[in-house]
Amino acid sequence: MLPTKRYEAPPAPRICKIKPKAARAAELRDLRANLKKNRRRERYTCKPCGVTLNSLITLYEHKASGRHHNTINRPKELPHCKDCNRTFDAVQHFNSHLRGKHHL
Ligand SMILES: [Zn+2]
Ligand SMILES: [Zn+2]
Repeated sequence: MLPTKRYEAPPAPRICKIKPKAARAAELRDLRANLKKNRRRERYTCKPCGVTLNSLITLYEHKASGRHHNTINRPKELPHCKDCNRTFDAVQHFNSHLRGKHHL
């Protein structure tokens, strides 16, 4: 014969105290204030560029900008000048090197 499991009463539901209307209104106000604060603090980040923007609109504008396209089109490997055997940490540096007098 199988041992019968002892019946255990389910935990009593937590009694929710009904808060006075004024307290609830205050809570709601706090919540709204927090939401507002958070919304103001909300930032939009363009991950490939590592830039943070204040609004969705500026993020869109940024994504349409040449700066963003330069970043996402940047080659994974660092630009390298074979003639001078020099590596540059940015395409811009490399380009200015090619134009500069240090380049062969
Ligand atoms: Zn970007
Ligand atoms: Zn060079």
